[in-house]
Amino acid sequence: MNYETVIGLEVHAQLLTKSKMYCGCSTDYASTPPNTHVCPVCMGMPGVLPVINRQAVEYTMMTALALNSPISEYTRFDRKNYPYPDLVKGYQISQYDAPIGQKGWLTIEVDGVTKKIGITRVHLEEDTAKLLHRTSPDGEDYSLVDINRSGVPLMEIVGEPDLRSPEEARQYLIKLRSILQYLGVSTGNMEEGSFRCDANISIRPVGSAELGPKVEVKNMNSFKAVFLAMEYEARRQRKAATEGKKLVQETRGWVEDKGRTVSQRSKEYAHDYRYFPEPDLPPLVIGRDWVEEVGKRLPELPEARRDRFIAEYDLPLYDADFLTREKAVAEYFEEGARVGKEVSPKEVSNWLLGEVSRIINAGNIDIDGFRKKVSPPMLCGLILSSHGTINAATAKTVLEDMFKTGKTADEIIKESGLSQISDTQELEKIVAEVINSNVQPVADFKAGKETALKFLVGQVMKATKGRANPQLVNEVLKQKLVEDSSS
Ligand SMILES: [Zn+2]
Repeated sequence: MNYETVIGLEVHAQLLTKSKMYCGCSTDYASTPPNTHVCPVCMGMPGVLPVINRQAVEYTMMTALALNSPISEYTRFDRKNYPYPDLVKGYQISQYDAPIGQKGWLTIEVDGVTKKIGITRVHLEEDTAKLLHRTSPDGEDYSLVDINRSGVPLMEIVGEPDLRSPEEARQYLIKLRSILQYLGVSTGNMEEGSFRCDANISIRPVGSAELGPKVEVKNMNSFKAVFLAMEYEARRQRKAATEGKKLVQETRGWVEDKGRTVSQRSKEYAHDYRYFPEPDLPPLVIGRDWVEEVGKRLPELPEARRDRFIAEYDLPLYDADFLTREKAVAEYFEEGARVGKEVSPKEVSNWLLGEVSRIINAGNIDIDGFRKKVSPPMLCGLILSSHGTINAATAKTVLEDMFKTGKTADEIIKESGLSQISDTQELEKIVAEVINSNVQPVADFKAGKETALKFLVGQVMKATKGRANPQLVNEVLKQKLVEDSSS
């Protein structure tokens, strides 16, 4: 039997507000000592009252609008009850059946096909505390709790089960993160846990309208992990179904180093949480004038910027799409493209897609890490040098040096004497030496073996440590060899 994979993703994104969701404590939990941003409200002491963070509501409204989701006029906060060590209050203030945004969508592109993916809901809740698991010197396991993160605004975006492959799931996440970053509402950093994803995955016979028992997969902390976990689950479920085993609704965790998912617990249902309207908060009514006002704050979003890059900088779709996926990359490009007339936007794009991406991937950093060493004007300076002073191969090594040292291309070229040898006389001397010391290849070339010329060019490049202009080397070599034969 042929099966199709059905995936729906739930994303939790921490919002970039200054204070927590329901109290005035700072959200800066990452760089401060444990348990220093804590108050009776985020500790859930009896008799204290939460207050809704306006900025968090507006960020959620902006996200919903960017995801083509209408903003509910009447929304409410609900209490989600569950006992867990990282939940000091014993409950979380979340939203259940009256979320801020519902029924939106975004588009993804896979293999050149554009697909619309539904967004079920966008709602607001609070993060939990952080548990740190330790082992004492005598081998006893214990846990520490840091409440600083407890109460940080968390936006949940639940997607419809419209995704049909691990690649579609990956593209959905990339797009969603891109939108949040453009809006400036979240860092979208998956490794640091400010952008987290749980996936619901099931299989069903092709053509069936019903969903199979769904498995929720947790603990994936990179786009790659999501992709690999979905591939693994789709395979595992197909195998079980083919062998006639019964699939069960459960929660499984992704174990990165083993490359597999393991069963954690049977899945809980909504009624397990005993949701009820949060008694300490009034319903939140969102007036239409407020929606209109927040709507005006929406910046240019990734797709609009992509289309503008094509029109304004005359870039191919492939380049524009790549450059606009991450807001920081798009900004780096635009700064570079606006620097000078001598460097074309397409050249800046070529370098970003090529060498710069290679350095970023190799160093496991992002564009901001690259920018700290090589600013857009510095990259343009290098591109300008590659028009004459240095050749293309040298330019690549100069960029690596720029990244390592933070120096400009001019400084590096001067210091290491990398300027291209464009002086014909100097080059003629070197060519003569190469001809003299490579008797056999020279004879081969004269006998009509064209590949021998390539070898000789290579020898000249080697002798000049790559500083010669290859075209000029070709010309001078040919000329010399012809002179040789006629003399
Ligand atoms: Zn607090």
